[in-house]
Amino acid sequence: MTQAAHKKPLPVSKQAALTRLRGVGPALAEKLGRLNVYKPEDLLFILPLRYEDRTHITPIGALRPGDRAVIEAEIELTEVAYRGRRTLMCRIFDGSAALTLRFFYFSRAQQQGLARGKRVRCYGEVRKGSAGLEIVHPEYRLITDASAPLADHLTPIYPSTEGVQQGRLRNLINQVLDEQLGSNKTSTANGFTDWLPASLLQDQNLPTLQEAVRYLHRPPANAKLAELSAGRHPAQQRLAMEEILAHHLSLRQIRQRAERLKAGAMLIPKSNNNSGNNLTKQLLNNLTFTLTGDQHKALEVILADLAKAHPMMRLLQGDVGCGKTVVAAAAALHAVSAGYQAVIMAPTELLAEQHRDNLQNWLKPLGVELAWLSGTLKGKQRNQAYAAIASGEAQIIVGTHAVFQAAVEYQQLGLVIVDEQHRFGVHQRLSLMEKGASGVHRPHQLVMTATPIPRTLAMTMYADLDVSVIREMPPGRQAIQTVALPDTRRGDVVTRVRAACTQGQRAYWVCPLIGESEVLDFQDAESTFTMLTEALKGIRVGLIHGRMRTDEKEQLMKAFSAGDIQVLVATTVIEVGVDVPEATLMIIENSERMGLAQLHQLRGRVGRGAEKSTCVLLYRGPLSNDATERLGVMRETGDGFVIAQKDLELRGPGEVLGKRQTGLMQMRVADLIRDAGLLPHIQDVAQQLLRDHPDAVTGIMHRWIGTAGEYGNV
Ligand code: ADP
Ligand code: MG
Repeated sequence: MTQAAHKKPLPVSKQAALTRLRGVGPALAEKLGRLNVYKPEDLLFILPLRYEDRTHITPIGALRPGDRAVIEAEIELTEVAYRGRRTLMCRIFDGSAALTLRFFYFSRAQQQGLARGKRVRCYGEVRKGSAGLEIVHPEYRLITDASAPLADHLTPIYPSTEGVQQGRLRNLINQVLDEQLGSNKTSTANGFTDWLPASLLQDQNLPTLQEAVRYLHRPPANAKLAELSAGRHPAQQRLAMEEILAHHLSLRQIRQRAERLKAGAMLIPKSNNNSGNNLTKQLLNNLTFTLTGDQHKALEVILADLAKAHPMMRLLQGDVGCGKTVVAAAAALHAVSAGYQAVIMAPTELLAEQHRDNLQNWLKPLGVELAWLSGTLKGKQRNQAYAAIASGEAQIIVGTHAVFQAAVEYQQLGLVIVDEQHRFGVHQRLSLMEKGASGVHRPHQLVMTATPIPRTLAMTMYADLDVSVIREMPPGRQAIQTVALPDTRRGDVVTRVRAACTQGQRAYWVCPLIGESEVLDFQDAESTFTMLTEALKGIRVGLIHGRMRTDEKEQLMKAFSAGDIQVLVATTVIEVGVDVPEATLMIIENSERMGLAQLHQLRGRVGRGAEKSTCVLLYRGPLSNDATERLGVMRETGDGFVIAQKDLELRGPGEVLGKRQTGLMQMRVADLIRDAGLLPHIQDVAQQLLRDHPDAVTGIMHRWIGTAGEYGNV
């Protein structure tokens, strides 16, 4: 787990293991540590990004622009040309054709070395120059002996990494390969043990660990490059499987340990009247609506968990707008009824405030005390909040990460609820549990996410959690009509926005992040804002973007919520979960560049009130096949689970299951999207190992996770 690893100083003993390699001193060991390399073996899991074929010489006559190849030829002429800039041109001929080597940076010695009549062997990318084929800045060497050996396997190109050069990395990896795989050992005393039983590998048609590693670092000349670059070679799959397995096993271990922990069994004292002390019941009675069947089921399961004497660890999944908040509130009130405090945390101030306001409305009539904590709360107010929390006067605490700061002391924290959990990784999840821990007692934990996670993924990568799903939407919701339009029709859309706003409706106009540049992103939104301000005279247009301060953003969201702003131009900062029921129009610019998950999240901002809502996907043509398919999916369905599944299949740039979205761990080899096909199988393998090979379980976890952040330390 990279983040944790970054902060940890490198233990001396681990550095020592690395410095055993030639050329590695403490400084390099330190740098390698930043790449999660702590022991020589770890180097083998830095896999090449691509390969170059330097195993044979290609005749110049057979080359085409764009080819990368080794050529060998005789130098005919070397001269310095001054065409715009000083250039060294070296003309070579191999009997089949001539080619020019071109250098913009060169030394006198280099120039003299490339003398007429010498033989040169070089590698580089061929392009079409002004005088026929050329290679700019080839790698080259002069050859005296025509039988000088070529590479006997493909040349790996490693990801360029901060402070560790390609050649250096290749050299270190070669040292470890020679050491570990030099002989035909299947395992060594150095801990490079193949933990997966042979029978299992045979079943799956997968290579052994040694075979896989050797193949990936030194593939034979005839290796299937297309398969390798797609990450689908059995050697890659073998490693990916082991890595995912390692994470899955460690999650199961967390779970097992959690089962040994204790928690307050939340039982509600009986009273004379039916709902006397039962605040949950009172809340449900006071609501202006009744829970949907799925909400009801989720709540039942949660209440049953809370009644147990060991900590609940539950994930509540449900698409935006399905009504998770009221379920959370009902659970929190159950804790309060049983004499505990409950805390509800949201990832942003805006979302936390929205929860606070909703809860406040629900709690007031029940006489339950709520405390608010956020990073921006200062001085006297903050101290008051701290005091109320410590004394137990505050029964439900709502806020941002601030609720977990060391300074906050709870009197009797029984339940932790985290909203929009996809922004939190396993580590955060675990550290939350530690707040309010005493001895073997931990608070119950409920995490909520609007990101639909396909079942196999949830079972594999959230194996530490039980999962509840709300699929049903509250009644009366109208489907959001979705249309895709080329951006040449922007004018029509503006007309439509004007009409809607005149009738008291509100619109979002979203300009997505383009090219990962906050500056461009901002300019784009700003020019749209200017355009709309012009085009919509008399209608109040606002602009919200990622560079604003939190309080500025909040002001704008509030103004939009209150109707003081009717059209809100936004970069993608508009937060997941923000609720403005009057917003009925969502216009998304450059929708062709966005992934399904993000489109779905954005669309979920509208359709929250009684009015019919529309989502307009503006795109700039021509559309790629993938983009066409994505926009098609958006038009056809509003079901987040269907969309998540599609996203998995299309693997578009949105990556519904990408790290950012799900808070899933950063992996070294595996890619949960690309390797999704492995997931169903991994649970079986885990089961088998836990039953028959407990050593392997420890070994695998140690190899992939052990060094970088203690995982299961609950
Ligand atoms: P999310 O699951 O995205 O957090 P919210 O909890 O914000 O959804 O709920 C969305 C809206 O639906 C809120 O205004 C909420 O009060 C309302 N709501 C929740 N449950 C129901 C229900 N069973 N019937 C009608 N409206 C509901
Ligand atoms: Mg929500």
